[in-house]
Amino acid sequence: MLRDKIITAINEVGFDEYKEISSSDIIFADAVFASCKTNTCGNYGQNHSCPPLSGDMEINKQRFLNYDHAIILNKIMFLGEYYEKMESSMTEVFGFLNELRGKLEDEPIMIAGPGGCDLCKECSAKASEPCRFPEKKRYSMEGSGMDIVTMSRKLGMTYNAGDKNVGFFMMVLY
Ligand code: SF4
Repeated sequence: MLRDKIITAINEVGFDEYKEISSSDIIFADAVFASCKTNTCGNYGQNHSCPPLSGDMEINKQRFLNYDHAIILNKIMFLGEYYEKMESSMTEVFGFLNELRGKLEDEPIMIAGPGGCDLCKECSAKASEPCRFPEKKRYSMEGSGMDIVTMSRKLGMTYNAGDKNVGFFMMVLY
């Protein structure tokens, strides 16, 4: 059963928390989607999985609503005394995500995570060229307008674990 395969893969990779929800319970917010334009991640217009190249808010929402079920998971990472481990934490989180992606690559699922797609060393969007692997592209949760803070509170999941530890959220849709 697909659900069991996904849960097994999540446990094998080793995430800290996960919750199973219906995709219709995913919380989207226009303000989160709009904030991509001004945030400093550098992916706006520079990554095919992020706005505006990923489409408008409705297209982004529908991409998730095409699936019935969602599993939201997180990995709690220590960002360092002075947040100096922010970048290395993100790299580590992408490593977990890619390991999960590898275990489930033959399954009819979609995986979304924090930040833009990292499949290529440099996204072809930067050179205004088409996506090299449209079928494998990984979408961003925040970049799709997902309100992760509200959703994590509602689901009792850890966003801020204190002492510079934060939860990095990811999602598997099936
Ligand atoms: S697969 Fe490559 S080109 Fe396509 S969105 Fe991801 S990083 Fe960009």
